[in-house]
Amino acid sequence: MSISSNIADIRRKLPSDVKLVAVSKFHPEEAIMEAYDAGQRAFGESRPQELCRKQAALPSDIEWHFIGHLQTNKVKLIVPFVHIIESVDSWHLLQEINRQALRCGRVVDVLLEVHVAQETTKSGFTVSECKELFDKEEWKALANVNICGIMTMASFTDDHEQVRAEMMQAYNLFSEVRTKHFPDSPSFTQRSWGMSNDWPVAVECHSSIVRIGTAIFGDR
Ligand SMILES: *Cc1c(COP(=O)(O)O)cnc(C)c1O
Repeated sequence: MSISSNIADIRRKLPSDVKLVAVSKFHPEEAIMEAYDAGQRAFGESRPQELCRKQAALPSDIEWHFIGHLQTNKVKLIVPFVHIIESVDSWHLLQEINRQALRCGRVVDVLLEVHVAQETTKSGFTVSECKELFDKEEWKALANVNICGIMTMASFTDDHEQVRAEMMQAYNLFSEVRTKHFPDSPSFTQRSWGMSNDWPVAVECHSSIVRIGTAIFGDR
């Protein structure tokens, strides 16, 4: 299967109101261009230097989604051009994104990453840490970040019921935070979950963004 036919196949099955992010980490520019020529514009990367190299070499209308662990000293590399940082996993990182965004005169969209999986290797806030962050309301003073929703990764398992339970934890958190802190907000609307192995379950669990790498580009 080619990259373009993989994208067409996923698009055919994906509801039209769910955004497809093609996760291109570790794949070369040529592979991204093949997806681009098939109409794909949103790409996901997990390493700052790799993202900067690709951004400089590729068309400027690509929407770059940063989805990996971001060290605070690398924030300034990507803030000037990134479309959204989906993987904000600490208050300290959120503050640094705000600081760097202010320096370049931007308001940067972000998602908070929540840890619901059983694997301890995955990062993110726990559900209760995330609620505490919103309840403390200090985030309201960060004028250069726009918190647009919640991102999560479910456990890597064939047990769909477990995956579903984890994604629904993220969805319930999203709903609670939206009701309490963003009742009429046009921006706190995004739910990013679903990867190559579990995106159909994610769509059933109210995902608005799926991040798919292997099923588009093949193995890394
Ligand atoms: C790599 C990665 C993906 C894509 O995973 P695939 O299994 O290749 O689809 C999605 N989200 C995050 C955060 C990733 O790091």
